[in-house]
Amino acid sequence: MTQTARLLIVGPQGSGKGTQGARIADAFGIPAVSTGDVFRANIAAGTPLGEQVKAITAAGNLVSDELTGQIVRDRLAQPDAAEGFLLDGYPRNLQQVRDLDGFLAEHGRQLDAVIELSVPRDESIARLALRAAEQGRTDDTDEVIAKRLAIYENETAPILDVYRGRGIVDRIDGVGTLDEITERIMAALAARGIARPAAV
Ligand code: AMP
Repeated sequence: MTQTARLLIVGPQGSGKGTQGARIADAFGIPAVSTGDVFRANIAAGTPLGEQVKAITAAGNLVSDELTGQIVRDRLAQPDAAEGFLLDGYPRNLQQVRDLDGFLAEHGRQLDAVIELSVPRDESIARLALRAAEQGRTDDTDEVIAKRLAIYENETAPILDVYRGRGIVDRIDGVGTLDEITERIMAALAARGIARPAAV
């Protein structure tokens, strides 16, 4: 039997979802699909897509559901995502949940688990301020951080209720060392029968 892992990681900015998402994807040998990374790479390369989303992301606002959805749909249709993927940063509101459900249903698929990375607000803000200083991320000013956290609370947190209703959410304490948090996530997935492939 082929073990699939179609995963989503959700958490406020500064929760470490990008780092943990990449670690989990690596462990399962599946691609991590981060819409924020796609946008940042396009902005850095000066592509037409990058030009289109630059001001929106810099202000901490969300890119349109249509554009973001098209990017995810195309990415998930690539062969390396056939047996699994880890989504990071998409879906981010209820419309995107409906859109994703539609893309997956076209292939008779659905998400296997949603990892909710839980970090207190003060901790997220402190981590974001540190990251802004270290990486010079222009979307990490105080004002933009506050806006992004508000959007998370108002638009993104509600998607967890939908997935909770489906019984697929694992709430993980996101405070600890990187290894501790990765192990917590792996243990929660294993409890669902989604296990790390045996080392060869
Ligand atoms: P992230 O790295 O996930 O925080 O994303 C960085 C920025 O990219 C966000 O603040 C949004 O402007 C944009 N973005 C990323 N994912 C989405 C999404 N699913 N829907 C709309 N905008 C997004």
